[in-house]
Formats: sequence, C-alpha cells, structure tokens
Amino acid sequence: MTDQAYLCLDNISKAYPLKEGTWIKTTAWLRAVNNVTLNIFRGETVGLVGESGCGKSTLGKIACGLDKPTQGEVILSGEKIGSTNDLLKSRKIQMIFQDPFSSLNPRQKVRNIVSEPMRIHKLGSKKEILDRTSSLLEKVGLSSIHMPRYPHEFSGGQRQRIAIARAISVDPDMVVCDEPVSALDVSVQAQILKLLKKLQQDLNLSYLFISHDLSVVKYLCSRIAVMYLGELVEIAAKKELYTTPCHPYTRALLAAVPVPDPAIKSRALLVKSEPPNPLSPPPGCHFHPRCPEKMAICSRKSPGLTHISPNQSVRCFLYE
Ligand code: SF4
Repeated sequence: MTDQAYLCLDNISKAYPLKEGTWIKTTAWLRAVNNVTLNIFRGETVGLVGESGCGKSTLGKIACGLDKPTQGEVILSGEKIGSTNDLLKSRKIQMIFQDPFSSLNPRQKVRNIVSEPMRIHKLGSKKEILDRTSSLLEKVGLSSIHMPRYPHEFSGGQRQRIAIARAISVDPDMVVCDEPVSALDVSVQAQILKLLKKLQQDLNLSYLFISHDLSVVKYLCSRIAVMYLGELVEIAAKKELYTTPCHPYTRALLAAVPVPDPAIKSRALLVKSEPPNPLSPPPGCHFHPRCPEKMAICSRKSPGLTHISPNQSVRCFLYE
C-alpha cells in the first residue's frame, strides 16, 4: 500500500524543545506528533480531525515541507524527501491556511499575491503569468477586475478564494487545507467546500483536509484519520467512521456534532474534561483519564493499532 501512495508520512514524530534560563537550556520536550503513519493516494481527500493542540497542523506543515520531522520520513511519489527544502522546491504540495485575514500579505495587490508562486518557479513569461492569474481568479469564482485590489477590500470567503487561487497556481498534485473554512460564516463555508470539491474533480487534486469539525470533513473526505495528543487513534473510510466508530474518542467527537433539528435533543458529550497537558501526557493510553470505557490495562500499557477491517484501524484495547 505504501508504495502506491502519492504521499506517505512514514512513522513521523515531531518534538519541540522548550528552553529556559540565562544559558537557554532545553528543559523539556513538547511531543507534538508521535509515530504517525498516513498514506494519501492521488485524487483522494483524507480528513485529519481532533481537538485543537492535538498536533494535526504540525503534521500538515510537515506534509508540505514547512516543518521538519524529528523522526520518520516523508515519501512523495515513491521517493524519499531528503530535506523539507526538497518539498518546498517541488511545488507539488501546497497549503491553504485557516485564517484568510492573516495568510495574505495586506500590502500586496491580488495580482501579485496569486502570481508570486508562478514568478518564483519561473512558470512562463510576464504576459503568460498575468493571463494565468486572470484565469485562476475566474476558476475560483472571482474575476480579473479584482487583480488591482488589496486583500482588505474582500470578504473572508473571497480572501479564501484568493488563497486557493494562489495554492493551485503552480499546478500542485496535492493541497494541505488547514482548517480552511473554520474562520468563515456557515453559508460561506458551504461555498468554499463546494469550490474545493469542484477543483479536486477538475485538477485531480489530493487533499489532506485538517479540521476539528466532523460535519465539514464528512462532506469532502473519503477517509478520515482521528488524532489525539499527537497520535492517530483511528483511521477509517468515511462510511465506517460515521456508522461504526470504534475508538471512544471518535464516538465522543461524533456525539458532539450538533444535530440540525430542534426536535432532537443534543446528545451528551461523552468526554467532559479538558485534554491533558502535552508536556506530560498520561502513561499508557493517553486517552485513559477521559475515557468512559477505560480498563485496568489502559493506564499501564499503550495500545497498538488494530486492523478491524481493510477500511478501519483503531488504537484501543477494546479491539485487541
Ligand atoms: Fe479507552 Fe482503554 Fe481504549 Fe484507551 S485503550 S480508548 S482508555 S478503552
């Protein structure tokens, strides 16, 4: 399976040193990502969900070369990536960020924002780049009349369209979308999700779609990976994850999705306490202090990944 994947994140870990004192000593390590393996295939959308601070954005940055793993390898089209620089240079993976208000340079006109990656990668003459900028803006639902304007002249949804035009300007195979709709109104969210789906069909893009919202992920993704405190705790095809979620944390996330029917009482959130401090994660299964189904073994040993079916794997003693 690994060698067929377009992008393979192979046993990735990332730890950040925390420094203190006059001599700037490393006093602790923050383990943001722990031994994560995730494959993404051409044309596929994989959702990566979890609470904020669980390490999903760090994994997204590693996937597109904006951060370097402490351990593990990034394999692109079957080739090991030697350094994060290789990934940045390859232009095959691009990223869309959460906040369209801060991800665009406020001092640059839209024309320059969208065309900059093409100029950096020398993808044509000045005129060719200008023509492509205009057609990219049309592709994302804007037009060439927006080229001389600045980001502050646009709404949040329009800014995210500009960010998407910029991301696809260099013809990537894959886009890492880091919470691309969470800063937008619900009605605008639907439009941006529809646009991402259409672009995927037109350009055969793969997406790694990072979100804390399982209803958003359901619309776009064919497979979903659930992350808790730096580890993948469940990976499943969409149908399996939404009909037979296995990990107690996945079930808690699904229970927390609001039901759009006032006649149906909102289901109780199974997980009540706050996530533990990632600087001192609990021993054994990291989820055990919050787990309604914990057993004696859960605080002593860490569960491995169990393959329940070809489409579903879970890290939990209930299935070992
Ligand atoms: Fe809960 Fe134990 Fe499964 Fe962890 S391993 S999720 S504590 S049942």
